[in-house]
Amino acid sequence: MHSPTLLLLTLILTGLMACVLGAFAFFNRSIRGMPYWAASYGCGFILCLALLLRSSTPGLASVLLTQALMFGLAYLNYAGAHTYMQRPGRLYGAGIAGLLLMLGLMAALTVLYPQPALRVGIASAVSGTLFLMGAHCVARGRLGMHPARYAYALASGMHGAFMVLRPWGFVTEGQGVWLVNQAVSIPGLIILESIVSLVLMAFGVLMLANEQTQTAIKHLADRDALTGVFNRRAFMVHFDKAAQLSRRRKTSLAILAVDLDHFKRINDTWGHKQGDDGLLHFVKVAQHCLRNTDLIGRIGGEEFAVILPDTPLDEAALVAERLRTGLMAAALPAGEQEVMTITASIGVTPCGRDEPPELALQRADQAMYQAKRNGRNQVYILPAPSLHEQGNPDAHSPDPPR
Ligand code: GH3
Ligand code: MG
Ligand code: MG
Repeated sequence: MHSPTLLLLTLILTGLMACVLGAFAFFNRSIRGMPYWAASYGCGFILCLALLLRSSTPGLASVLLTQALMFGLAYLNYAGAHTYMQRPGRLYGAGIAGLLLMLGLMAALTVLYPQPALRVGIASAVSGTLFLMGAHCVARGRLGMHPARYAYALASGMHGAFMVLRPWGFVTEGQGVWLVNQAVSIPGLIILESIVSLVLMAFGVLMLANEQTQTAIKHLADRDALTGVFNRRAFMVHFDKAAQLSRRRKTSLAILAVDLDHFKRINDTWGHKQGDDGLLHFVKVAQHCLRNTDLIGRIGGEEFAVILPDTPLDEAALVAERLRTGLMAAALPAGEQEVMTITASIGVTPCGRDEPPELALQRADQAMYQAKRNGRNQVYILPAPSLHEQGNPDAHSPDPPR
């Protein structure tokens, strides 16, 4: 197949993909980076058109246009990756500065010191570096968790490496497309590589969009809308996993059941909105008191549960006490000049290695109700029943710790 036909095929493919990605960006505005990727393919489409239409001896304007489009498509691809990963930094300023610098250099290498091979070498290396940067930016996290990121990174990285290495071929051969001065004479291999890369990268981008949508759906399904902690269903899934892990590693596992005291009164006194703020306040205090590996879930209206992996019962009791005192000490502003203090009753129990997590949660609940009966704002510890007690729940009556 000769070059103009391949270039025409690239034109059609980039145009179609720009439309597909543009439609994605338009109909699902929450997908980060998609407008940049659509614009990148748009640049690719115009670049193909410009290469097809340009005369056999391109003037300065034509050179600058194709160079601007080449830089634009690579930079926009990087901007898409950067935005997708929510990285900090000023994209517009850096992009415009880079473009102006490139155009100045290209103009100098066309008019002042005509060096077509050097021009192509620099343009190709800059563009390739941007594709490599896009790949590096996205290739984060565990492969099993984020296969889309690595698929995209592979496509972008391979294209980047090809672009960076490409000029060496021209320089050593001593002649190439840019010396021949005809876009239609671009070697078929280069266009073929572009076709493969642009198709692979578009697949990668669509996989990334899918990953982001799946993550958003999973977050909605797993999290409590008000506080952002796990809802009951997701909490139980994590509790099951933590129990399996503790069984395998032979480590201890403890659970806390927390119920906020007289919460109805808080709503009645301060209003429902202030009650909601109280729930958020509790979660903030709890997250401050707990380790990163501890998991918190909202299992009812003002009831929460906490999984403490690798924690023996005495340590779990200390954590519960820290949480109780921490909550009491952190008053929440309410009304004009008043403050609201929230207290909690907390039940603590271990999760036995052969015990179903539901049973441990029930026992933590029993402990929490005992803390309520004992006067609220306190911690009650209920150890796992010994074997002979398991058939007779009344046989067990531990001394309350406080
Ligand atoms: P106790 O100390 O016995 O637990 O008393 P309590 O008032 O906390 O318990 P009760 O079960 O009588 O009331 C729970 C209250 O929690 C009633 C309900 O309005 C409130 N609540 C549950 N979910 C929410 C919520 O999402 N937002 C707000 N503001 N209040 C909630
Ligand atoms: Mg309550
Ligand atoms: Mg309750």
